Amino acid sequence: MVGFALNEEQEALRSSVEEFAREVIAPVIGDLYERGEFPYDIVSRMGKMGLFGLPFPEEYGGMGGDFFAFCLALHELARVDSSVAITLEAGVALGAMPIYRFGSAAQKDRWLPDLCQGERLAAFGLTEPGGGSDIPGGMRTTARLDGDQWVIDGSKAFITNSGTSITSVVTALAITGRDGAKPEISAIMVPAGTPGFTVGPEYSKVGWRCSDTRELAFSDCRVPAENLLGGLGRGYAQFLQTLDEGRVAIAALAAGLAEGCVDECLRYVGQRTAFGHELGHYQAIQFKIADMAARAHVARLSWYDAAARLIAGEPFKSQAAIAKLTCSNAAMDNSRDATQIFGGYGYMNEFPVARFYRDAKVLEIGEGTSEVQRMVIARQLGLSRLG
Ligand SMILES: Cc1cc2nc3c(=O)[nH]c(=O)nc-3n(C[C@H](O)[C@H](O)[C@H](O)COP(=O)(O)OP(=O)(O)OC[C@H]3O[C@@H](n4cnc5c(N)ncnc54)[C@H](O)[C@@H]3O)c2cc1C
Repeated sequence: MVGFALNEEQEALRSSVEEFAREVIAPVIGDLYERGEFPYDIVSRMGKMGLFGLPFPEEYGGMGGDFFAFCLALHELARVDSSVAITLEAGVALGAMPIYRFGSAAQKDRWLPDLCQGERLAAFGLTEPGGGSDIPGGMRTTARLDGDQWVIDGSKAFITNSGTSITSVVTALAITGRDGAKPEISAIMVPAGTPGFTVGPEYSKVGWRCSDTRELAFSDCRVPAENLLGGLGRGYAQFLQTLDEGRVAIAALAAGLAEGCVDECLRYVGQRTAFGHELGHYQAIQFKIADMAARAHVARLSWYDAAARLIAGEPFKSQAAIAKLTCSNAAMDNSRDATQIFGGYGYMNEFPVARFYRDAKVLEIGEGTSEVQRMVIARQLGLSRLG
């Protein structure tokens, strides 16, 4: 049987996150967004709900759920707000998941319990000022062993969750050697506050205004040799796996944003009148909303498919890239159309659709641009072998 009906447990999770987003996030997020403030209180409450521990085993304080459940939560959050959703997405898929997947028993015991509770956040530092898509070619950050310490030098750009007051650790990818011309890349955990590790000021971003994004600098930054995460030289392979999963999560977030646009428009066109009728009376508006609903539906199915394959242990690389591409397109198109349906009010920051419009663009950039998704899909189709 092929089917995507949620079971009782999944529906209970979905509806509890939907209610949380509507009752706790929606009333306050507009003001926080205007001020560009990190939503500490909301994050703490999400931690108490178990959202940061959703895909992790109970022995680490997790909820014993799976990646599908985590994506479902992201989708429901993003129907209301994407800054909060990306904070959860990056905290779990980029921050905690590599520690869970590749960490030693001691590393998991040390870091995961606080991360699963949402009391602490972890970040993943891959992108550098000189290159994001072109990794490993564009990577410059290095780490060398000096006795029983790694000495890290370099910088990272645009790192989510890296500078909050509850950030506990950043996993940085660094060149730890060379195999001929090929850089050997490893992942090294750098606890917040380590001397030589400087966190820059919060960027002024177009969207995701409540999420924390920083530039990081490492200068003679020393951490114990046992802070290596996974095997020496395994960082690049680990990063590819982390990003494949992260793309499914970002796709779910984007699909949620696309659906949130439909929610907002359905409310608005029953209230606003023009030329003697409610806006929703006009077929041009109905068709726009029908197109938006169709995009949101296809987007949801695309991440369901990728996530279902992921949790079944099947190959999902191509489906993850297709979902990321499809869902971010849907988010962009729907936020543009929703803003149009709201007219002048759609351009006012106090209306959620304006926030959605500002938040949608980055979905075509972060965790692999749309061009990179197309490269992955083309490679999976065997096109890269053509001369
Ligand atoms: C808000 C925000 C949060 C982020 N959070 C994180 C994080 O937590 N951790 C992290 O490591 N990174 C993070 N990033 C970085 C993000 O993943 C990168 O911005 C992204 O991968 C693109 O890299 P780049 O910015 O260096 O662009 P570039 O790689 O310089 O690309 C520029 C443009 O060229 C295109 N391009 C590049 N190469 C090719 C090619 N061969 N063919 C065709 N087109 C090409 C790209 O698609 C893009 O359109 C974040 C970014 C943002 C904006």
